Amino acid sequence: MPQRFNDDPLIQALCNRQTVWWRNPHLAPFAQAAGDVGLTADDVAQAAARLARFAPYLAAVFPQTQATGGIIESPLYRLSAVPDDWSRRDAVLYLKADSELPVSGSIKARGGIYEVLQHAESLALQHGLLNGLDDDYRRLDSDAARAVFARHSIAVGSTGNLGLSIGIMAAKLGFQAQVHMSADAKQWKKDLLRRHGVTVYEYRGDYGQAVAQGRAQAEQDPLAYFIDDEHSRHLFLGYAVAGERVKAQLAAAGVVPSAGRPLYVYLACGVGGGPGGVAFGLKLAFGDHVHCVFVEPVASPCMLLGIYTGLHEDISVNDIGLDNRTAADGLAVARPSGFVGRAMQRSITALATTDDADLFRLLAWAWRQHRIKLEPSACAGFAAAKIAAAEQADAVHLVWATGGSMVPDSVFNEYLAAATD
Ligand SMILES: *Cc1c(COP(=O)(O)O)cnc(C)c1O
Repeated sequence: MPQRFNDDPLIQALCNRQTVWWRNPHLAPFAQAAGDVGLTADDVAQAAARLARFAPYLAAVFPQTQATGGIIESPLYRLSAVPDDWSRRDAVLYLKADSELPVSGSIKARGGIYEVLQHAESLALQHGLLNGLDDDYRRLDSDAARAVFARHSIAVGSTGNLGLSIGIMAAKLGFQAQVHMSADAKQWKKDLLRRHGVTVYEYRGDYGQAVAQGRAQAEQDPLAYFIDDEHSRHLFLGYAVAGERVKAQLAAAGVVPSAGRPLYVYLACGVGGGPGGVAFGLKLAFGDHVHCVFVEPVASPCMLLGIYTGLHEDISVNDIGLDNRTAADGLAVARPSGFVGRAMQRSITALATTDDADLFRLLAWAWRQHRIKLEPSACAGFAAAKIAAAEQADAVHLVWATGGSMVPDSVFNEYLAAATD
């Protein structure tokens, strides 16, 4: 780490695993910051159109998406009570329950499934499985299509949830699916993938090493497609589609963010693609009326460190003595996506950290109070929301709950047992 950070109070606080709230001084009006991303509203609209083209296929192969016509979307809940330790008891608090996204039960069902479909579409057009974009995509649910896809592989490195989304979708289409899992990935996620016919590779190292192994292996095979969580624009666009959708859900609930009634959204951040893409979609939908706050575990504040130092992917939390070990497995990332850091560093209002004990406490609270099943990572947003809610009385607060509905009961009970109030 450069010497200029030796006596830096924020870096000291991060080293000491203190929870922090860093108001980002680089925040700029979105009209100026939007250009940092290198993607446009039109790119996001095209991603939404691609998902719409696949909707009849998805409804056919995943019965759990029939109710929404093959559109994979999650409910928005107005919570009737805020967590017990909030000073402002009357804060308006919404939960975006990506924990209930069909097919793979986490925010990764947005980006991961989108990128698999994007790749499948281009192969299908190339091989004549589809005669153009207005064809009936249910034709892909056929032995002929699966035989073509079976010659190709799709690979990814993951702490768990991205692997679940990509593995399940890729295997369903007929691809050879290969998921490279880091040591912190949960056993039940590996078991579930294997039941879907996915090849799971296990590593002793962390997420960065699993990604590197997957990338290296895919490079050996010309018919392999590697989904690169650290750099992928496709993943990012899949996440960004959420912006317009949640705008419609909020409007239906009577919430129209404005300068006098801003929307604060709290997003759990690992490598950055999920929260970055969703934040981009939100900025496109609401402009400066939305404030996005990224939240990371005290052991893994990689995006905060990358943006704060300006070093992005060139600095790791290990460089400041942190061990990147957290119960929030989806957030156990030591080095951020440089693409996302540079794209979003002028669009994020604040970055904050939370400790694991808080995550378990909030997980137990969400279950007891609301009967909503979350995994530890998915609770990160609450910690930052508590602080903003105390200051921003007129704002609407929305915690993006990123995963949890598919956690087996035995594992969920262990989470509940880990909660101490
Ligand atoms: C992956 C994940 C995140 C964070 O997304 P990134 O793209 O890694 O930043 C948050 N919560 C859960 C449950 C996740 O699986």
